[in-house]
Amino acid sequence: MSSFPHVTIEGYPRVGANRELKKALESYWAGRISADDFTSAAHSLRVDTYARLRDLGLSEDYAIPADVAYYDQVLETALTVGLIGGGSEISLDEEFALARGNSEKAPLEMTKWFDTNYHYLVPEVGTDAITPRAARILRIVEEARDAGYTVRPYLVGPVTLLALAKAAEGAGDPLERLSELTDAYAAILTELAEAGIDWIQLSEPALVADLGPGDARLAELARETYTRLLEPAVGESRPNILVSTPYGSLRAGLDVLAAAAPEALHVDLAPATLVLDSDYPQRVAAAVPADTQLVAGLIDGRNVWAADLAERSEVLSSLGDREVSVSTSVSLQHVPHTVAAETDLPVDVVSWLAFADEKIAEAAALAGGDEEAAARSERAVRTRRESARTRVEAVQNRTAALPDGEVARTPDFAGRQEAQKALGLPTLPTTTIGSFPQTTEIRKARADHRSGALTDEQYTEALRQEVADVITLQEELGIDVLVHGEPERNDMVQYFAELLDGFVVTQNGWVQSYGSRCTRPPIVVGDVSRPEAMTVEWARYAQSLSDRPVKGMLTGPVTILAWSFVRDDVPLAVSADQIALALADEVNDLAEAGISIIQIDEPALRELLPLREDDRPAYLDWSIRSFRLVALDAKPETQIHTHLCYSEFGQIIDAVAALDADVTSIEAARSRMELLVDLNENFHSEIGPGIWDIHSPRVPSVEELTSLIEAALTHVPAERLWINPDCGLKTRGYEETKASLENMVEARRNVLAAHGWG
Ligand code: GLN
Ligand code: ZN
Repeated sequence: MSSFPHVTIEGYPRVGANRELKKALESYWAGRISADDFTSAAHSLRVDTYARLRDLGLSEDYAIPADVAYYDQVLETALTVGLIGGGSEISLDEEFALARGNSEKAPLEMTKWFDTNYHYLVPEVGTDAITPRAARILRIVEEARDAGYTVRPYLVGPVTLLALAKAAEGAGDPLERLSELTDAYAAILTELAEAGIDWIQLSEPALVADLGPGDARLAELARETYTRLLEPAVGESRPNILVSTPYGSLRAGLDVLAAAAPEALHVDLAPATLVLDSDYPQRVAAAVPADTQLVAGLIDGRNVWAADLAERSEVLSSLGDREVSVSTSVSLQHVPHTVAAETDLPVDVVSWLAFADEKIAEAAALAGGDEEAAARSERAVRTRRESARTRVEAVQNRTAALPDGEVARTPDFAGRQEAQKALGLPTLPTTTIGSFPQTTEIRKARADHRSGALTDEQYTEALRQEVADVITLQEELGIDVLVHGEPERNDMVQYFAELLDGFVVTQNGWVQSYGSRCTRPPIVVGDVSRPEAMTVEWARYAQSLSDRPVKGMLTGPVTILAWSFVRDDVPLAVSADQIALALADEVNDLAEAGISIIQIDEPALRELLPLREDDRPAYLDWSIRSFRLVALDAKPETQIHTHLCYSEFGQIIDAVAALDADVTSIEAARSRMELLVDLNENFHSEIGPGIWDIHSPRVPSVEELTSLIEAALTHVPAERLWINPDCGLKTRGYEETKASLENMVEARRNVLAAHGWG
């Protein structure tokens, strides 16, 4: 059998450098290309990718991971091992129905993959027998072989697959199916061995997260599973197994996996992992037996910075004098393809960056001791450290002058509520979350502006017209607190990143978020500041069109950081304080321009919550502080709103309360107001639990909305309740938006009448 390659990666972006997979998927879904055209486009992309990876240095057999999937790696593994989809072969359309739903079936639930911005499909485990579909994985390795590449098949490991799954209705805990599932993996391993495959990768990130008492159980289950897989039963055979453990350091799992002694074990040794667990390399070196090939995930797959190769090779040396393979800490699917596609970035910044392809070159350089690469790395690290772009004295002086620790707006909530009576808002005020539908006209105007077909003036005029229409519509609907609709914003984070100093934005830095959806996160390069007001002109204009209050709209520091690539040379808390000060200036300018209500969106507050219990208090301290800094100097009569969505907030409801906003709008419709059960006496702010689930085009009826308002009233007194949808309306059409908002206003009117409050 061939030995494990010296250089490899944990995984590679699947979308394609020119988003080929996205385009093929969307063309197929829209019926513009046939199933055959789709599969052949996907085939070409895979083979082109193998060629590219070989050129980049993954030239040894099994160095290239075949972590292929049309939609999602968890879905692909669940189908391959037969965990879902019944016992039979599954067609392309059935696969996409699982991912996206169809007229009869709802799609699988989607949720965040560990603490990344990638979303996977949650397998629903019922009681069907588990019948593997080995042909899916054999096809992949054979297609590669035909093209001249010996790739390493990849599956999400059995423990992780079940740990991430959920029980179908009426079925038991998915983990109870583990031994049966392990047999299915063993059957696939046998077929791969019979096809002459020497290595397979089983990725087990679930073993790095310690989520409380369940951890010990996962470790025990991992022990049973890997004992079983590594010692095949009579009649079975298997390739060598690489178990990989990205997204953090192993704790209980390290001893278990070391004792199981797979032929190769990958560990995450990224700088950020070592910050939390500094003796991890030593623990790994001591625990992993000599005949297990250690695969050191030294190149950070989660950020976009060029590695400090000198520092990295010290970590490599600290693993002892055994022979070690070099890899990335996690799959490169979380970073864009290549810096070479960026032609508009400042040259100094370019030299500091490494996307997927550059990271592969770094791994190769680290393994091979490349002197030229070492010199380049040394220069990048030094120029970045010394650059006036990263360290801005004025910004640092300003944050240094801030008080440490907790900050609080005065007066307290009760005092502010008194001052805000001047707003004259009615009982159960109605509002929306910010964006209105992004019409084809708006999108076209944006594209025409970019291409030069529209002048700046013409473009601004089109946007002003849209704002005026949105204001008129809300007045006609009878909404109390208006929004301008955000037509000038391509994206709620990118918009601010483009206007703040200290950020750069890429042209082609696309990263898969889920399925065919890609985002282009901005990059925080250095100290952040605001050269000039960012939203004031739009807010002032919108307010000039109405006598009702129009909300000023800001994206909060946590969300800006969560949806950007962040610095690795200062703690997140430092960037958060800097962004907070820039936004605080914006709050003051808005107030001065006559804006009496300002919303600071923090939909990502839950998303950045660390996986490990131990790491949470520090995160909550800096994130809550940064939000409070934004509002700190707002006058008592300025009403500060916040908005949260994309997850269940019950678990961190105390942190939501600690934001100390005057009004909190929060996603709640899908769970039918379940969230309100978690409210306690600490939660004093006014609250708008979303009553319309804007993620679906369905128009909720007046009755349904009325009953949700009544349900909310059993938890929240009328003086503190707001009426609003779950989230912004950007992805909706005008037709359903008008109908739904009309129903919302009518439901509220009914409730007022029924209680005699109107
Ligand atoms: N104000 C933003 C909007 O309405 C909020 C979006 C969000 O919460 N994701 O679009
Ligand atoms: Zn939202």
